[in-house]
Amino acid sequence: MRGNIVKKYTESNPKTFEDRMCLILKMCKDAVQDAVNFNCRLLGVGISTGGRVNPQDGIVLHSTKLIREWSSVDLRTPISDALGLPVWVDNDGNCAALAERKFGHGRGVENFVTVITGTGIGGGIIHNYELIHGSTFCAAELGHIKVSLEGPECSCGSQGCIEAFASGMALQREAKRLHDEDLLKEEGMDMELAEPITAAHLIRAAGNGNSKANAVLHKASMALGVGIVNILHIVNPALVILSGVLASYYQAPVQHVITERVLVSAQSIKVVKSELEEPALLGAASMVLDYATRRTY
Ligand SMILES: [Zn+2]
Repeated sequence: MRGNIVKKYTESNPKTFEDRMCLILKMCKDAVQDAVNFNCRLLGVGISTGGRVNPQDGIVLHSTKLIREWSSVDLRTPISDALGLPVWVDNDGNCAALAERKFGHGRGVENFVTVITGTGIGGGIIHNYELIHGSTFCAAELGHIKVSLEGPECSCGSQGCIEAFASGMALQREAKRLHDEDLLKEEGMDMELAEPITAAHLIRAAGNGNSKANAVLHKASMALGVGIVNILHIVNPALVILSGVLASYYQAPVQHVITERVLVSAQSIKVVKSELEEPALLGAASMVLDYATRRTY
């Protein structure tokens, strides 16, 4: 099974809970309508969301300040009531791991870890072919693994998390800082462009020999790499799968940090890049498929 996305709807995230729920319900109803045109039989709705999720009840328990008004939110009941379909909900990192298990590098792998390096950093841990959710649904919060007692403030309010060093947001923050100090300049690069400064500028500048940009990326790679070394020492997976927009950049440096810092017994563990388009969304769909097609309930 390959897992193809046949249609994607994208909207910017409303700031208030009420507006967000209205938009989600509208998009779901539009998708149900469009499914007819695709000759699709709808088995249910799978939802991947940021924040800590209780998948048994379909409730978002807490989220960081990246998503405002997104705590103690029952997603299952209103969507299930509106559409007349069963609804499954999990955290985006966990969904990404489910997608790898069903469609990606994690097929047939008993123990693996996936790390999403995008705007934030998330992840999921598959152990004995199943997700680890933990006692309060806070397991595999890989972005908030601490690699320093200090460091920049994280979206969770703490310090020293790998998300605060290595996420797209963190790199954008550092790129803006260098740009404001006039240190991101390089020959042939027009920094007066209207486009906003992003992690991509930082990566490009480093590639062209900008030592300040290089130092920022080195620190970010070290933070992410050491964070992943900690994961390897806790759950000892057979494979680490990186996804998200920064995965291509981080794959080699993270593998290098692992080789240098991990215990000998875990030296052989490989870091690979996901080949899936939108793993979190595919994982949400796979929850529906797995539940709707299993024989016992
Ligand atoms: Zn954090």
